[in-house]
Amino acid sequence: MAKYNGPVCKLCRRERTKLFLKGDRCQTDRCSVERRTYPPGQHGRRRVKDNDYLYQLREKQKARRVYGVLEKQFRAYYKRALREKGKTGENLIRILESRLDNVVYRAGFAVSRPQSRQLVGHGHITVNGKKVDISSFLVKQGMVVAVCEKTRSGPLAKTIQEGYQREVVPWLQVDRKKMEAVMVETPVGLNPDVEIREEMIVELYSR
Ligand code: SF4
Repeated sequence: MAKYNGPVCKLCRRERTKLFLKGDRCQTDRCSVERRTYPPGQHGRRRVKDNDYLYQLREKQKARRVYGVLEKQFRAYYKRALREKGKTGENLIRILESRLDNVVYRAGFAVSRPQSRQLVGHGHITVNGKKVDISSFLVKQGMVVAVCEKTRSGPLAKTIQEGYQREVVPWLQVDRKKMEAVMVETPVGLNPDVEIREEMIVELYSR
């Protein structure tokens, strides 16, 4: 499973917005975006000429980084969204939101998406009672995502409980006691954390 292993705060600084990749630290004044408002690198403070392509590219990179998806897979999601009925941009966000690591994060079982990805990868999550350790698994309406029995009674339970502080999205029904979430409807609406203008991503890939 390919993933980005570099410094994540630099990604936020590059996008000039909080992408919430580090859990609790993102809510404190230790957040790098708060302390350094310019992009990283030697030429970070240079003035960049605005143009449509740049805005579209940044929007796509922002979405990729929020959901922790590499370019090849992101493009595959776009092609899938294109084939489905309805607006391509909305389909794309729905697919990204349906990823298992995202559902685990949205349910509040993890403080950040990288942490939820780790929970999935290490086999702590079940879907409809069966262990699933693939972060990109797409959860469908009616499926039950839960923390596995063994983990619920283990030392990791406290860490998982700490993730509960976040507001839960309306398309998920979460039972905190049981540590399980049901996808009651397909993911819709705006991304509650980071604003993503999906139409700009579609414009970029349609060039
Ligand atoms: Fe780092 Fe989180 Fe701030 Fe992003 S939002 S710069 S990940 S602390």
